[in-house]
Amino acid sequence: NRQWILAERPIGEPTDQTLKLVESPLPVAGPGEMLLRIEYLSLDPYMRGRMSDAPSYAPPVQIGEVMTGGTVARVIASQLDGFEVGDLVLSRSGWQDYAVSDGTEVAKLGKAPAHPSWSLGILGMPGFTAWAGLTRIGEPKAGETIAVAAATGPVGATVGQIGKILGCRVVGIAGGPEKCAYAVEELGFDACIDHKSPDFAELLAKACPDGIDVYYENVGGKVLDGVLPLLNPNARVPVCGIISQYNATSLPEGPDRLNWLMAQILRKKLKFQGFIIFDDFGHLYPEFAAQMSGWIESGKIRYREEIIDGLENAPRAFIGLLRGENFGKRVIRVRPA
Ligand code: NDP
Repeated sequence: NRQWILAERPIGEPTDQTLKLVESPLPVAGPGEMLLRIEYLSLDPYMRGRMSDAPSYAPPVQIGEVMTGGTVARVIASQLDGFEVGDLVLSRSGWQDYAVSDGTEVAKLGKAPAHPSWSLGILGMPGFTAWAGLTRIGEPKAGETIAVAAATGPVGATVGQIGKILGCRVVGIAGGPEKCAYAVEELGFDACIDHKSPDFAELLAKACPDGIDVYYENVGGKVLDGVLPLLNPNARVPVCGIISQYNATSLPEGPDRLNWLMAQILRKKLKFQGFIIFDDFGHLYPEFAAQMSGWIESGKIRYREEIIDGLENAPRAFIGLLRGENFGKRVIRVRPA
């Protein structure tokens, strides 16, 4: 059983030394347990937070522990009521080939779902995050302008497409011309601006002639700098993530603009609201699942995955995700086909 364990806490960007691949004996499922063979491992930005022991909403992975992660797995032995050999499940089994589970936080996916790995993306945590943050905190109304960065990732792409279904103008922000073209041509965004462009702030302002009513915050940093002056009175900002800062080791240099920001919040009556998806909105999951399945079946929402073969490639793929090298939802196929 190959396992990626946390070897050291990274300072800044994770390195090849952060995680270590170890071999351990195949675990055995006892009474009330089942043995899972992991087929897909989700890579998600929050994993950077689990590598750190800074205070957070969830406990860190301990040094020597298997790295945490959402997985799609096959039951290969079971002494647990309700789970049979051959069942496909959504679990939190982490970065390894096999895991024993007592059924905690495990959901059955049915014998033959069309796209098992989608339960790690559009039909799972990231899709739910987009849906809940946008509709429950962003509260967009038809005709309003929504801006969202990481626009081709699983959260951002879903936010923008839901925005279009709700009748809004949607302006994406993404890294590079290929991602921007995809957001407009394939996802139906009204515009998409490359945050790597030297004229980013001006281009964003031009793409938002009526200002921004909902800024779905995924990245922070200079994207947030460009967005802030464009926010309309009573704009809503679901604070979902600030990925540009996840590897940061200190606050950026420069003038302290905290009081300027507070003045904007006051004068424009802005709403900034952070959320942790299952803590805050878990009760809405069935409503999300029903609505999203319908949108996918009717072709209203499209989904892009980037599947990488081999558990051995997971750390490099994760480092790349934080650098923006992914194009779509990054998933590891643990055993190459
Ligand atoms: P993505 O697959 O979109 O991957 C991250 C993307 O972020 C990269 O591809 C890159 O896109 C962009 N990015 C990275 N660094 C920067 C930077 N310095 N400036 C601008 N963009 C950058 O991730 P997800 O869709 O899975 O997640 C999106 C956000 O949602 C993350 O911040 C994540 O932490 C957050 N999240 C929060 C949850 C919650 O409960 N609050 C739950 C799930 C996710 P590009 O090349 O286009 O810039």
